[in-house]
Amino acid sequence: MKIDFNKNNDGLVPAIIQDVKTKNVLMLGYMDQEALDVTQETKRVTFFSRSKRRLWTKGEESGNFLNLVSIKNDCDNDTLLVMVNPEGPTCHKGTDTCWAGDNTQNFGFLTELEEIITSRKEHQDDEKSYVASLFKKGINKIAQKVGEEAVETVIEAKDDNDELFLNESADLLFHYLILLQAKGYTLKDIVKVLESRH
Ligand code: AMP
Ligand code: ZN
Ligand code: ZN
Ligand code: ZN
Repeated sequence: MKIDFNKNNDGLVPAIIQDVKTKNVLMLGYMDQEALDVTQETKRVTFFSRSKRRLWTKGEESGNFLNLVSIKNDCDNDTLLVMVNPEGPTCHKGTDTCWAGDNTQNFGFLTELEEIITSRKEHQDDEKSYVASLFKKGINKIAQKVGEEAVETVIEAKDDNDELFLNESADLLFHYLILLQAKGYTLKDIVKVLESRH
């Protein structure tokens, strides 16, 4: 790996630390050549600490080590992306990431959609909103909609019109997300259950 350690004339490159499983960005540190070598030899992420002015193995006091999975150079060889399996919380303030709350696991557009559904749940008097009107009608009506969309999905699955099948599947997922929130849950809760069975 050819790394440009001297862009800042200090022999250091930033190293972005990412959780290989959740894809959360955990922290940012700096590495010199020696820190990189130690990281690769020990498989535990080691930085050059700019405040301590010495090599610093993350977790050396707390035991919250970052176990190395892989290291990748960026497009112009001046920033590292380090994939890890973290042992315990990465931030010394006790949170998983150094950006507590933000930047945690999400499901892309589905998470955006869940946030919109949450805001409709909070503003049920919004008369222009279909989702708000469903919340207003209550859980039985929402559950019934999920049932209907599930049946429609099953019917289209037996046919070979893929476009109809995809559309009914989308209807089903959309109404299912609403049902989850009507019950006080989100996709994350379901993923947790699935993971615990794995
Ligand atoms: P540790 O390496 O986890 O044993 O922590 C040792 C010390 O390094 C802590 O007391 C903090 O001063 C500092 N430190 C630990 N984790 C972080 C972090 N994620 N970002 C910045 N400083 C940290
Ligand atoms: Zn770069
Ligand atoms: Zn932190
Ligand atoms: Zn439908």
